[in-house]
Amino acid sequence: MSFTPKIAIIGAGPGGLTLATLLQRNQIPYTIYELESGPDARNQGGTLDLHQNSGQLALREAGLIEEFRDKARPEGEALKIVSPEGEVLWNENSHGGPDRPAESADRPEIDRVVLRDILLNSLNPDSICWNKKLQRIEPGADNTHDLYFADNCVEKSFDIVVGADGAWSKVRPLLTDEKPYYCGISAIELWALDVETRYPWLSEYVGAGSCFMFDEGRALFSQRNGNGSIRSYACVRQGEGWAQDCGIDWTKPETARRELVERYFGDCAEDLKRVILESRDELILRALYVLPIGITWPSHPGVTLLGDAAHLMTVFAGVGVNVAMHDALDLANAIVAWKKSGARRSGLADAIKGYETRMLERGEENAQHSWKNMGMSFSKGGGEKMVEMLKGFGVRG
Ligand SMILES: Cc1cc2nc3c(=O)[nH]c(=O)nc-3n(C[C@H](O)[C@H](O)[C@H](O)COP(=O)(O)OP(=O)(O)OC[C@H]3O[C@@H](n4cnc5c(N)ncnc54)[C@H](O)[C@@H]3O)c2cc1C
Repeated sequence: MSFTPKIAIIGAGPGGLTLATLLQRNQIPYTIYELESGPDARNQGGTLDLHQNSGQLALREAGLIEEFRDKARPEGEALKIVSPEGEVLWNENSHGGPDRPAESADRPEIDRVVLRDILLNSLNPDSICWNKKLQRIEPGADNTHDLYFADNCVEKSFDIVVGADGAWSKVRPLLTDEKPYYCGISAIELWALDVETRYPWLSEYVGAGSCFMFDEGRALFSQRNGNGSIRSYACVRQGEGWAQDCGIDWTKPETARRELVERYFGDCAEDLKRVILESRDELILRALYVLPIGITWPSHPGVTLLGDAAHLMTVFAGVGVNVAMHDALDLANAIVAWKKSGARRSGLADAIKGYETRMLERGEENAQHSWKNMGMSFSKGGGEKMVEMLKGFGVRG
């Protein structure tokens, strides 16, 4: 007799929501548990580029690719690279947009909040439990698992629990003792809102997409978002406690930005300093963490991970969301194939094990790539190296 597994997805990030929409499309029931109080609870921040063979592939399988294309910003792919002295080394804004070979073309940007809405709107709202912060997971009866939440509620007897709960996953400790560690880089996230009206210089300088500066021990990343804002990350290679110990009072953003510029970007071109000084609307401190590259664990029947929960990597290759969505697609495919082949309870563990083999390989490959990119981004002449790399790929700047 075929068996319908009781599935819990922990986390309504891009990975968890992608899995949910793919399961729903295949009439496989699930419940998402998300710690936030609702879809608008927090600034979902930032813009993401979705790649053809991962993020976009998952959306295509979910029947959401047309909606994505309607809402994405292909012009946001334009890349500008500037040296610390202000020399423009590369600019895809100047000749009507990016000109890339097929394998690196078609990576339109979409705001994280817009992507989340596309995915959320595709789901049955009754399948999402908001305000449910998982605290721990424990083995339950008959090879199932029970979920313990911060509100003291316990949900019992899940046949599959998927930890899609990001960097600080509460599901991961059941599978491995590995924990995220500080990658050596701290980022000051700075927002400028309504740039066309309020910061026209910044708007013109950054261009239609991204504007990057790389140097030894520091970097500046600026990206246009769809809602008329520009988000910049001023990044420094410093110790884990730097933001707290450096003596800058971050509660006074105006003086904090000035001190940040004087101490860490003082010898940079005036334009680059101006990017930091003009991004006045929000300041968020972010120490960046990663899981060990090549992390793995013995497969544990009934519990698995995807996305950042499984293989948190540095953000410097801009692939995290794509990898999370690709994981979700692979896991959904594994569960659907298991269902189509008779849905016998005994075969479920093997289906998940097969998914984990592919997912962990993909995680390792992308984590290596992103670690290498971090090295290049925070090295002297990083901009020139990036330009050489782009030319090697056949991109025209
Ligand atoms: C500063 C920064 C910039 C980035 N820029 C890019 C980029 O340009 N391109 C790119 O591809 N990637 C980027 N990334 C990486 C990307 O954000 C992640 O890889 C991606 O969001 C992973 O998706 P996910 O669904 O696995 O996890 P998440 O997006 O982290 O989602 C996890 C979800 O689980 C919920 N949750 C967490 N704990 C619990 C709990 N205990 N109980 C219930 N729910 C819980 C969270 O609230 C969240 O909704 C960036 C990351 C950072 C930090």
